[in-house]
Amino acid sequence: MQPLPENASLRTIQDYVRKLEVERGFQDRSAVDQCLKLFEEAGELSRAVGALSGQPVDPAGRIADLGAEAADVLLMLIAVVNRYDVDLEEALRRKEERNNTRHWR
Ligand SMILES: [Mg+2]
Repeated sequence: MQPLPENASLRTIQDYVRKLEVERGFQDRSAVDQCLKLFEEAGELSRAVGALSGQPVDPAGRIADLGAEAADVLLMLIAVVNRYDVDLEEALRRKEERNNTRHWR
């Protein structure tokens, strides 16, 4: 698989995830299964943040890598939305337009 290009757009990253799922044989996993993986990865990210914040950690557990866990969450999030052909960049822009009209406080 070609490496992800430098400065890839969100759309390019979504396409990359689509291709990597085919290459790794994950393309037939259901959206529900991928959603469960997303929450599993979110849990790992939370543990990494907890460890970096000085919370007690399982000494038998692996060392938390915040960047790697954040990347896993992004990959799984994209794997879920790709199953519904959501353009994540467009969705992000639309949501931020709405958020920017809200009063935050
Ligand atoms: Mg992970």
